[in-house]
Amino acid sequence: MEMMSDAQNRRQILLTPGPLTTSESVKQAMQVDWGSRDGAFIAMTARIRQRLVALAKGESSHVCVPVQGSGTFAVEATLGTLLSRRTSKVLILINGAYGRRMARICEKMGQPFDIYETAEDTPPDATHLAQLLQRDSALTHVAAVHCETTSGILNPIAKIAESVAAANRSLIVDAMSTFGAIPIDLGTLMADAVIASANKGLEGVPGVGFALLEKSALNRSEGNSASLSLDLHDQFTYMEKTGQWRFTPPTHVLAALDQALTELDSEGGIKARGQRYANNCRILLAGLAELGFETFLPAALQAPIIITVRMPADDRFDFQKLYASLNEQGIVLYPGAVTQEKSFRIGCIGQVFESDMTRTLAAIGEVLKNMGVPREGLRPAG
Ligand SMILES: *Cc1c(COP(=O)(O)O)cnc(C)c1O
Repeated sequence: MEMMSDAQNRRQILLTPGPLTTSESVKQAMQVDWGSRDGAFIAMTARIRQRLVALAKGESSHVCVPVQGSGTFAVEATLGTLLSRRTSKVLILINGAYGRRMARICEKMGQPFDIYETAEDTPPDATHLAQLLQRDSALTHVAAVHCETTSGILNPIAKIAESVAAANRSLIVDAMSTFGAIPIDLGTLMADAVIASANKGLEGVPGVGFALLEKSALNRSEGNSASLSLDLHDQFTYMEKTGQWRFTPPTHVLAALDQALTELDSEGGIKARGQRYANNCRILLAGLAELGFETFLPAALQAPIIITVRMPADDRFDFQKLYASLNEQGIVLYPGAVTQEKSFRIGCIGQVFESDMTRTLAAIGEVLKNMGVPREGLRPAG
């Protein structure tokens, strides 16, 4: 037999925006080969869909339509299904890569859209949004990102939803990195779609995304999609009729998600999980500040998801070395993604706990000592 790799030998933690660290029992749940047309698997699909809608309190208003693939597949499927290329125009709120990605998707689809872009450390303003909606009567939809994982900024989704509802338009929310971590209540938040995936706050493994879709909006969407495999109306209709997936489902991924949802429940639900993430985030922020690092976002805008650290100016600081050294200890950091300045990121979601945060901070402190970077050297350039 081949030697087990290091990653298999010991617990590796992913302090990234996903995929994330999962529990042993979630990984164990993938040991069964499910028949995709089998009664037990059909029941599991139904149970997962029902549990996902219930997590957002959308049982009476929304349905869950899952789709194979990463989170972006679910975003593309949702935009392509709910929007009509003839009669819809969507205003995309952008302050990072995931907002920009929605604009690229619309471009590819030939879907009319406009953008309202703010800097990567600036949330959109709900009053300005209301003005934009008033100015352009062709706009039918608004698409927004809840936590823009590029920086870790928390966008004011409730205020955005209020402006959109007041203007009688429809809202599509990319809640990929917040679903399972920050409560969304579809009883009060007016949204036609909330999109997420298995492998972030839900702590499942990657391979499936889903949208919670408002029933009448979904019913009206028949024939919109120019894609076969990403047509959520078709996916929904077939699933309702047969209980089955149209095309090969990611069976093991779904078994893991079912287990992950049970573990979310036993942790105490979204509230308790959100508190664990917020505690992780607090520990990291305090520890990084104590070491001398500066972070990109002010505390009030920081979601308890991922932290963007401003790149130190001192030549002796070498992120590649820091990355490699922590990697050797089973801790995976992430490169930066904001375009305004150089940075790196440390995530605080997934099956990671207080002890992982303190261990990470100690490991970073040790590397800094070895690099010989003084505290003042951790200040960013400019
Ligand atoms: C992770 C993420 C996505 C989807 O990314 P994939 O790599 O396709 O899974 C979309 N939006 C946000 C806000 C995300 O954090």
